[in-house]
Amino acid sequence: MSALEQMYQQVIMDHAKEAHGRGLEPALGSDVGESFQVNTTCGDEVRLRVGIEGDRVASLTWEGQGCSISQASVSILHDLVVGATLDDTRAAEAAFLALMQARGEEPDAATEDLLGDATAFVGVGRYPARIKCALLGWMALKDALIQANVPPERRDS
Ligand code: ZN
Repeated sequence: MSALEQMYQQVIMDHAKEAHGRGLEPALGSDVGESFQVNTTCGDEVRLRVGIEGDRVASLTWEGQGCSISQASVSILHDLVVGATLDDTRAAEAAFLALMQARGEEPDAATEDLLGDATAFVGVGRYPARIKCALLGWMALKDALIQANVPPERRDS
């Protein structure tokens, strides 16, 4: 394993151990959405609650169980989108989907800027069975934004 891969692995383990945003709390903001998603392939579950105020994600909390990849991914998603605009959230989602489809190829600097710690999941793209684990939280967010009445043009990447 390369030094970079080791660093990525460490980021994922850290977030799996001490997950950010874990524990469902009342949502902040004027619009609230919640979604429960299951990845049957691996047995991962996440229930995610999002609060929207104006054009920003005001809060995101969640509960879940499953493999380290699924749980760390929601923790990092939390850090990426809380306080972010819906436009930035959409851009991050598109970048993460592209990362999952890149078959392990290192992203460019612009993508890394958008994704921050989520770049650590680049290696998952080489294992199609694990991609669903990494995407579970993002799927829950997408559905929660629909529940929060965010119009399609503001959430579709
Ligand atoms: Zn999993």
